[in-house]
Amino acid sequence: MSKYALVNCNLLDGCNWKVKPSMTILTEDGKIKKIGNTADIKDLSGYKTIDLNGKYVMPGLINAHIHLPLSGKGSKATSSGKSQDRLLKLLDTGMGHAVLMSMMKKNISAQLNSGVTTCRSMGDLFFQDIVLRDKVKKGEIQGPRLLVAGPIVTPTGGHGMALGVIADGPWEVRKVVRKNIHEQVDVIKIANTGGVTDARKVGEAGRPTMTYEEVAAACEEAHKAGLMVASHAEGTEGVRTALKAGVDTIEHGAVLDDEMIELFLNNPNSLRGYSSLIPTLYPAVTIANLDPSITYMNEINIKNSILVYEGMIQGIKKAIDKGVKVGMGTDASMSFVTHYNTWIELDYLVKFAGLSPEQALSNATRVNAEILGIDDETGTLEEGKSSDLIVLNENPLDNIKTLSKVSMVMAGDNFISKPKIKTISEVDKAIDSINFQEA
Ligand SMILES: [Zn+2]
Repeated sequence: MSKYALVNCNLLDGCNWKVKPSMTILTEDGKIKKIGNTADIKDLSGYKTIDLNGKYVMPGLINAHIHLPLSGKGSKATSSGKSQDRLLKLLDTGMGHAVLMSMMKKNISAQLNSGVTTCRSMGDLFFQDIVLRDKVKKGEIQGPRLLVAGPIVTPTGGHGMALGVIADGPWEVRKVVRKNIHEQVDVIKIANTGGVTDARKVGEAGRPTMTYEEVAAACEEAHKAGLMVASHAEGTEGVRTALKAGVDTIEHGAVLDDEMIELFLNNPNSLRGYSSLIPTLYPAVTIANLDPSITYMNEINIKNSILVYEGMIQGIKKAIDKGVKVGMGTDASMSFVTHYNTWIELDYLVKFAGLSPEQALSNATRVNAEILGIDDETGTLEEGKSSDLIVLNENPLDNIKTLSKVSMVMAGDNFISKPKIKTISEVDKAIDSINFQEA
């Protein structure tokens, strides 16, 4: 039984972004019991009272696109090739699994301690994300709520073979999707275009790699089980195929035209009648701007990254303008994308895609909850919802960087009064060095 009274806060409940001063939030067993003016809520008996002294409280962040295994420190393993193959062989052993699990635990702890109270794992090697999700749910380890995809469904030569299971043709796709559903994933992840890290030619990152029939087969199987399909898609034609076949979330994104916008808004083959976009600017900006000797990326990776970045920016702007639901993800584990730096993506959405801070914060909380189908539980601070919240020293609408050092975090029943983050100094230094004018 945990009962907390957070008194004297400036509340941003995330339903809108107007500051409500002098507020009190009562939580009980991981849920918000009551929200009201501090002056009106006098009986705090039985509650552990925390005086926030005018600090700001907002909903915990939702990071809709992460990978759990790596820290985000630049590594050869994130580029494709022989070193990756060797590493994968080593990891697929009892010892390898144990090492991976301990890294994954550290990474979700970094997410939580930096204010992320829900994460979606978008591709995992050995279904370990399922184990981790269940341990968090049972309270055996402290972490954010996890929604997990298990291994990516990808074709021969497709993106993410290292984090996925290869399936060619609709029947193989159905089989792999069925297996993932049987293992109890929350979402199906497919890769229907190439990607920046494994493209071998400029332009190949966005090349369509799955047929309409293959994507439709994945959607049909997932939707029958009530699950959504998320597709890695970094090229216009790949995004179009994905939307036509019924994909529910387009991950990363590309240049969008009017036909695609119409499909986002009204998608008869999707699970809920519409599809959404989860852009990930962070890795595109860092790969395009940082010295390849530290990111372990080559010239082809960099050129592809620039192409993907430009497409994503046009896509985000057009989608927002036309009322498509746009969420937020970082692709943590990628080179220089850490698990404690989620705020960078919000910063980039404002700087490069022209979103207002309010819109960026909404996308990372309420809108992401709607996109992931968990808005009855989280995403806004309302009575009855999960007590997923962060305490900030400043108003994030005035200074989004205040999200880089959250003062306290509550994720359901987990309360962290002094969040601890182990930073990776070479990553932080490199990110600071990026000349934003050129990005
Ligand atoms: Zn990813």
